Amino acid sequence: MMSATQGQALLPGHASVIVIGGGIMGCSTLYHLAKEGVTDAILLERNQLTSGTTWHSAAQVRALRSTRNLTDLIRYSISLYSTLEHETGQATGWINKGSLSIATQPDRLIHIRRQEALAHLFGVEAQSISVGEAKERWPLMNTEDVIGAVWSPGDGRVSPSDLCAALTKGARQRGAGIFEETAVIGILTEGNKVVGVETPSGQIRCDAIVLCTGLWSRRNAQMAGVDIPVWPCEHYYLLTKPVEGIVGNLPSLSDHDHHLYIRDDSGGLLIGCFEPHAKSISPELIGEHAPFNLLPEDWTHFEPMMINAMHRLPCLETAEVRMLLNGPESFTPDGSFLLGESAETRGFFLGCGMNSVGVATGGGAGMALAQIIVRGRPPADLHEVDPKRFPACFNSVAALAARAPEVLGKHYAITYPGDQWDSARNLRRLPLQDQWRNEKPYLGQFGGWERPLYFHCDRKPTLRFNRPEWFEQVGREVRQAHEQAALFDQSTFGKIRVEGPDAEVFLNRVCANDMSKPVGRVVYTAMLNEHGGVESDLTSFRLGDECYRLYVGTTAVKRDIAWLGRHLTARDRVRIRDETETYAVIGLMGPDTADVAVRMGAGELNNLPYFHHTGIEIAGIRVRAARLSYVGEAGWEFTCRAEDAPALYGVIRASGVRSAGLFAQTSMRIEKRYLSFGHDLDTGINLLQAGLGFAVDWNSDFIGRTALLRAKETTSGSHIVSVLLEDDRGCPLGNEPVYHDGALVGQTTSAAFGYRVGKPVALVHLNMSGKRLDGARVQVDIARQLFESTIVCRPVFDPDGQRMRV
Ligand SMILES: Cc1cc2nc3c(=O)[nH]c(=O)nc-3n(C[C@H](O)[C@H](O)[C@H](O)COP(=O)(O)OP(=O)(O)OC[C@H]3O[C@@H](n4cnc5c(N)ncnc54)[C@H](O)[C@@H]3O)c2cc1C
Repeated sequence: MMSATQGQALLPGHASVIVIGGGIMGCSTLYHLAKEGVTDAILLERNQLTSGTTWHSAAQVRALRSTRNLTDLIRYSISLYSTLEHETGQATGWINKGSLSIATQPDRLIHIRRQEALAHLFGVEAQSISVGEAKERWPLMNTEDVIGAVWSPGDGRVSPSDLCAALTKGARQRGAGIFEETAVIGILTEGNKVVGVETPSGQIRCDAIVLCTGLWSRRNAQMAGVDIPVWPCEHYYLLTKPVEGIVGNLPSLSDHDHHLYIRDDSGGLLIGCFEPHAKSISPELIGEHAPFNLLPEDWTHFEPMMINAMHRLPCLETAEVRMLLNGPESFTPDGSFLLGESAETRGFFLGCGMNSVGVATGGGAGMALAQIIVRGRPPADLHEVDPKRFPACFNSVAALAARAPEVLGKHYAITYPGDQWDSARNLRRLPLQDQWRNEKPYLGQFGGWERPLYFHCDRKPTLRFNRPEWFEQVGREVRQAHEQAALFDQSTFGKIRVEGPDAEVFLNRVCANDMSKPVGRVVYTAMLNEHGGVESDLTSFRLGDECYRLYVGTTAVKRDIAWLGRHLTARDRVRIRDETETYAVIGLMGPDTADVAVRMGAGELNNLPYFHHTGIEIAGIRVRAARLSYVGEAGWEFTCRAEDAPALYGVIRASGVRSAGLFAQTSMRIEKRYLSFGHDLDTGINLLQAGLGFAVDWNSDFIGRTALLRAKETTSGSHIVSVLLEDDRGCPLGNEPVYHDGALVGQTTSAAFGYRVGKPVALVHLNMSGKRLDGARVQVDIARQLFESTIVCRPVFDPDGQRMRV
């Protein structure tokens, strides 16, 4: 191994890991790789370190994110940034002055109180304070319209260039090399795996590559045959000359109703914004060879924000402007970054698309990425930032250029339940899209598909935190499915065909349940990691001795195919194919379905036993019917070719059945305690904790079995329970803290109004071992208001599943 120093021209011939890009993500990843023992790792930066987006970051570090594990990444950043100087001798500029969020309208107050509750759940210090106290913390603030505030003392900020200097110093001290003025101009692959990079000074071979190239990542990834949806927007802040009254450092001030964040800067003010109508920009226009580049000032664009800022800080009227900084930052279609291995190319890891939290998250994200590369898994479940969550339809320039500004614009928006994206819609057509149009659906986007949420009202609802506008309509759809029959479009399920002479043996290795069941059986199972955590839960149909179809979650298909592919050995005679778009799935559910089947000329379906499937013709259309239900009513899920779906829909509708949307399905699923990956399940939860022990075949030698056997000795009962709220007006959404006797004992994961039980119902990850749970009283904290609730250990509706087994 060659030891490298800055400015050194001689590149090594080989490095175990090559990090591309010298912003916060690259520097942090390199530092953590070296800390993990990869002391020959190198970083290649085509200009100078931090010369992309990082140098001009406002660099605020606020701990709270939407999930515990993303919050933990920032908490790790905070502890790293505050201690790195001690380790390396290089200051990071860490200033811990806390942050202050103010509200000027009632829904914002609910929003920040929900954030406060979330902070308590994740162990982040946060508390509501009076307007007077807020004014004391920010004396220059005009508080005439402020109605409440939340104070978070642990937050702070950093100097991004100093931070990167400290990280690279720490990396060098451990042997890692850094090469500036060294662009990567090609990525070498062999058999779908990276083997090296091409630079103007020659090739470097390697075992893994980490792409940390910020807004340039989309084009760079294409060099490795990987498509990723990352796109830049212009991003503004204003800097003033010193302002009277600013003495020392102040907390960061968030006035999200006016799209602003404010902090002191060298005795003056830094006023940044997430304006509702942002501007996307092509990466080509930003240029590659102009380090420390900024975009032109646009005062017309910034003016509304300036007016807002002058309202909040009247002192701005006389402050002298130093500059209006317009720097580019990259965004992804769902506002979360990309961290982990790509689906397409092995050994090609991504750490990019940071959505304006790159400096705050960088420390933890670099640590997690290094662990993924070295240990094969992140420190905790990070499925929400897995690059494999996006379908290809999001990668087009048109979709990205339309969506990125909306993502920026929503960064400070109130997170209302049911909110949908306005841009980059209609990317993927459901087979029944034309049919739905006639039923006036209100559509939501899932995995790029447009899926009906509810029917008979297609205008955009007014969003709110209490009972939503669609409450009555969804109730009608649930009653339809519960009292008569309803049709549910489930075509967005991923469908994966696994076939070949070794399909059974292979699936028994990667799935926890018995996959040797005969043709015609349906099996609910899960793919586990070595630690027993759930990588995916799925329903399998055995179609032939050597052929299975796996039904997986809407956004899980790319990730699951990659997981299956990575567990195939050269000896396995197995083919894996994505059939998601080839087939449609239509659910027909409700007590009247037996009669509907007869009316459709398919009466023999009534003899199909529970969890069995069969091929059948309905009005001349070839259909695979399976008796199972995601909503807890009698019926079948029909799989047919996508092009046959409109005809099948026509036959079912002609039999008097009405349609029901996703909101009805979700309410019914929660009443039945059916768990959903990404909400109730993730890679950090094992099947026993989830109460899914029935989906395990202990006789089979599946991946994760050893860990699960160990867990069996320590896990008592399910950790996921239902709770029923007493007050029907309570609107839990998921991610609320749950208390018992004043102690935090759990968190809601999915929640809805349960129309069949007449109460709000939530699924809860509970940590109350040793207590008698069923019937115990708990309180659900919704925006700091405690709602009395009762634990129910079984499903709150039809716990024995009698209604499905007619
Ligand atoms: C105005 C503004 C304010 C912000 N405020 C905050 C804030 O308060 N808090 C926060 O957390 N975040 C903030 N951000 C966001 C944060 O700055 C970014 O998320 C972060 O800096 C991105 O870091 P990065 O390492 O991903 O990308 P970059 O810093 O852009 O680094 C990518 C590097 O890759 C290099 N590169 C590209 N292609 C190649 C190649 N082929 N070969 C070699 N090198 C290559 C580039 O030269 C560049 O140096 C702000 C951003 C802006 C614009």
